[in-house]
Amino acid sequence: MTQEPFDIDTLLAQAGNRDNNDQYHSVSTPIYLTSNFRHRDLEDVENFDPTKQYSYSRLSTPTRSVLEKTLAQLEDGARGFALSSGMAAIQLVFSLFKSGDHIITSDDLYGGSFRYFDYLADHYGVKFSKWNGKDYEKLASLVTPKTKAVWLETPSNPTMKIISIKKVADIIHKANPQILVCVDNTFLTPVYQQPIRQGADIVVHSATKYLSGHNDMLAGAVIAKSEEIGEELEFNFNTTGVTLDPFDSWLLLRSLKTLSVRMQRHTQNAKYVAACLAKLPQVEKVLYPGEGGMISFYVQNRDQVDRLFKRLKIISFAESLGGVESLLTIPSLQTHSDMTKEARLRLGITDELLRLSTGLESAKDLANDLKQALAD
Ligand SMILES: *Cc1c(COP(=O)(O)O)cnc(C)c1O
Repeated sequence: MTQEPFDIDTLLAQAGNRDNNDQYHSVSTPIYLTSNFRHRDLEDVENFDPTKQYSYSRLSTPTRSVLEKTLAQLEDGARGFALSSGMAAIQLVFSLFKSGDHIITSDDLYGGSFRYFDYLADHYGVKFSKWNGKDYEKLASLVTPKTKAVWLETPSNPTMKIISIKKVADIIHKANPQILVCVDNTFLTPVYQQPIRQGADIVVHSATKYLSGHNDMLAGAVIAKSEEIGEELEFNFNTTGVTLDPFDSWLLLRSLKTLSVRMQRHTQNAKYVAACLAKLPQVEKVLYPGEGGMISFYVQNRDQVDRLFKRLKIISFAESLGGVESLLTIPSLQTHSDMTKEARLRLGITDELLRLSTGLESAKDLANDLKQALAD
């Protein structure tokens, strides 16, 4: 089942339910913990159909196949890939490019993406230009004959800038329809944002975050709009072996079933906490995009930060985001520490900026935890 016009809530709750081909019609997709599959005879190998049969688990394995089909449906793409981490997902997309290719990126990205892009520039001569995510007229002028892709995150991390995927896709595809518009959709998930429907060509996720949602695994996803892009990605995926194993594929598939409900509650909690933070005298400014669980806020001075972390009783001082447990991080020292100080300050990533991943606890308890920890 699971085809349009089913609502995303239905797609999520039913993930893998009827597509799993299990001989006993199990409702939960089985886990096939095997590295390889037996062939009946020579004819079986000669007539091998990779869409229905399996041979070796790096190439494909039943639990991961069900997950990948689900990921493609959720993002309205032709093909999905499940990988061992979000960075592996980003790396898979960049395997499409060569030395000398030019990529335009928005200027406020996950710190690990910047680190990887610097590495590609240094070691492979890939050229990068940054775009501020606001000036749409400037965007077209950054395109060169060598431009192969645009890489975006929206809302941006950690300063929550909103970029119109549709505007970017229109401008870029008008300049050259071959340029791939790639969106890291980790923060909003397909529950709130489906980049392919807005004109993007490729979507990536750190499924470590909301898609899995329980702070208990690492995973990544790539979804391609077309079969053509999907085939190129598939070759590189199988060749480099950055795949998700059957157990984690099952765990992610199970987690997806509650994604829609979790996202609604993350939003409800974050709205409440953002409003409470805005009223605290110790908080200078709150950045909340209106959907999802991520809030960034500035405290008055750096001296408040250590005390805040030490006093928290519910919220954990830990990196990452998107799980049931609330986490607070300081981007300048954690996720974005590899950027130069000047680059950080230009984006507003000061030592007073904190990023909260609002979990699924009681919103009131979370707000009170921050209030008591920030009190003078
Ligand atoms: C965490 C994160 C990544 C990297 O994902 P991993 O699963 O940690 O490898 C990429 N993009 C964004 C927006 C992230 O938050």
